[in-house]
Amino acid sequence: MKHVTLPSGDLVAALGQGTWHIGDEPARRREEIDCLRRGIDLGLTLIDTAEMYGDGRSEALVGEAIEGRRHEVFIVSKVYPHNASRRSMHISCDNSLKRLRIDAIDLYLLHWQGNVPLAESVEAFEALRRAGKIRHWGVSNLDTALMRELHDLPAGAAVQTDQVLYNLGRRGIEWDLLPWLRERRIPVMAYSPLEEGRLVRRRGLAEFAKRHGMTPAQVAIAWLLACDDVIAIPKTASRKRLEENALALEHPLTTAQLHELDGHFPPPTRPSPLEMI
Ligand code: NDP
Repeated sequence: MKHVTLPSGDLVAALGQGTWHIGDEPARRREEIDCLRRGIDLGLTLIDTAEMYGDGRSEALVGEAIEGRRHEVFIVSKVYPHNASRRSMHISCDNSLKRLRIDAIDLYLLHWQGNVPLAESVEAFEALRRAGKIRHWGVSNLDTALMRELHDLPAGAAVQTDQVLYNLGRRGIEWDLLPWLRERRIPVMAYSPLEEGRLVRRRGLAEFAKRHGMTPAQVAIAWLLACDDVIAIPKTASRKRLEENALALEHPLTTAQLHELDGHFPPPTRPSPLEMI
């Protein structure tokens, strides 16, 4: 498995597992748990969830899937913006810990910024860290201006990642956010790396994949993994697709292939607001 180094020095799997919508259908529960466990077997040990996903059902399913395997995984969860206050964050965190059946969350993210000032959320994160309930904290869906504001706060430089929408068809962050993070050695965690599955149907991608003996999903994932500071967290509840996606690690893209992909999916030529799903 390829790894990415967090500012803390922790090495995490560059290819992880997303879990949005997992746990929503009781009939698929067994299959979803098996899929997550198979992912761990394949080295996809970073698992991303959130209190928001299925009102805690995703965290509960992850908790069941990692039973007996806590030492193998790196758990990322997220707190709702309206719970990211001094008063509420520790309650949210306790609830997530109970559902996940673990003692500490490895990386706890602010899901997006709401009305609670960033300074207060950072204080709350730091209090959780001192209490041993989280090991590290980070953010999600913060644009460059907010990242600057965060980073300038006391303890703001302890941020470990910004989890944002980033895939072949959504390259806006390459204009300013990615270079800003890169200068500070803060990795990006790319969510919706397959554009919720829609990317694999894009004609340019399908043709490229066929010519190079890969599947479209493998190309989309390998493209993200071409950078040393990008973590990709595709979601699948299918064992077959999980194995397909994991094989992206065996197809590192060459510089010529990356240039070819730039032709189909051009990098940004001007600044644009941070996109979200
Ligand atoms: P993805 O881009 O990961 O796409 C997931 C979809 O693609 C699912 O419908 C899945 O279907 C399908 N899929 C997976 N592999 C393949 C494949 N090889 N071929 C064809 N289709 C495939 O979307 P997500 O939005 O789920 O993003 C990934 C994760 O990022 C989330 O699960 C979540 O953990 C995180 N996230 C974070 C956000 C934030 O605000 N911080 C916002 C959105 C996501 P199936 O399951 O049936 O295989």
